Amino acid sequence: MTVNRRKFLSVAALVPAALTAPSVLRLSGTASAQDAAAKPIQSPMVMRRRIGEIEVFALMDGYGTFPNGMFPSFEVKAGEAAAKLAHKSFDPATFSIGINAYLIKTKDRIVAVDAGAPAAMGPTVGGWARALSAIGVAPEQVDTMFATHIHVDHVGGLTDPSTGYKVLPNAPLVVSEAEWKFVHDDAIYAQQSKDFQAYWDVSRAMVKPYDGVKLLIQPGAEIASGLTTVALPGHTPGHLGLRIDSGKESLLIWGDIIHGTAFQFTRPDWSFALDADQAKAAQTRKAILDMVTADDMMVAGMHLDFPGFGFVERDNGAYRFVAAPYDYRA
Ligand SMILES: [Zn+2]
Repeated sequence: MTVNRRKFLSVAALVPAALTAPSVLRLSGTASAQDAAAKPIQSPMVMRRRIGEIEVFALMDGYGTFPNGMFPSFEVKAGEAAAKLAHKSFDPATFSIGINAYLIKTKDRIVAVDAGAPAAMGPTVGGWARALSAIGVAPEQVDTMFATHIHVDHVGGLTDPSTGYKVLPNAPLVVSEAEWKFVHDDAIYAQQSKDFQAYWDVSRAMVKPYDGVKLLIQPGAEIASGLTTVALPGHTPGHLGLRIDSGKESLLIWGDIIHGTAFQFTRPDWSFALDADQAKAAQTRKAILDMVTADDMMVAGMHLDFPGFGFVERDNGAYRFVAAPYDYRA
């Protein structure tokens, strides 16, 4: 990569102050003692499985801890009951949230699906690049970067904060047109809290180097053979899932349909504070849970517990997640 003066200046301008001020970015709601005790993820966690002739890898970026109050409808008794049904440990104050990304290898394409959180957010996140390297994929080999949406825990690995350069030099950024417009709408940005604006700034900075190579799509677009995008509006207006079909097998990577595995399968009506439209998010969540239950369709998700492959079953008027068995096929 040649660096001329003009490029250098533009790169310097690309590195936002937020990226060099980790304290602004650290996971909110995480007790500092807990943070200090948290061990960095040294060993990359990856999981491979096949969907027909297509290979899908789950890449663990890390995990965070958030206040239960980020579910505005949270209530201790209902939360505890939901966590018990989900076989999850329960803390009346906080819940844990995994952060996954996925990588898809088709016959002729290598498609990244989301890119984790920026390492500056804390010691327990930012493992995406290591996980990518663990499956033997060099950043240069990724030919398509598909972002389900432009939140910081989904595009955080896309740009090197020390240089402002793209981490994936050969991949166009494929994202819904509605999402790109939403994230770059200054009027909507101005309505956000200061804290959320700090995250928003980083999200914008992470995708900015890809501005010239972005591919804005509509829901339903096929981004590669067997990979079809699915509209999942609510979490953000342009939130997209990715459906993978090969042979007789299918998988839906549903992005952020679920944020709290302890709560939301039992309480799909509980939206998340970061859902841009909470009513719409709940509506979409229920529709998708119904669809994958009826079709017995395998799902994957960025905030499902690693490796984040499984099935949804009906359970007493609500739902239950069942992790997919290990795939031994070569
Ligand atoms: Zn997310």
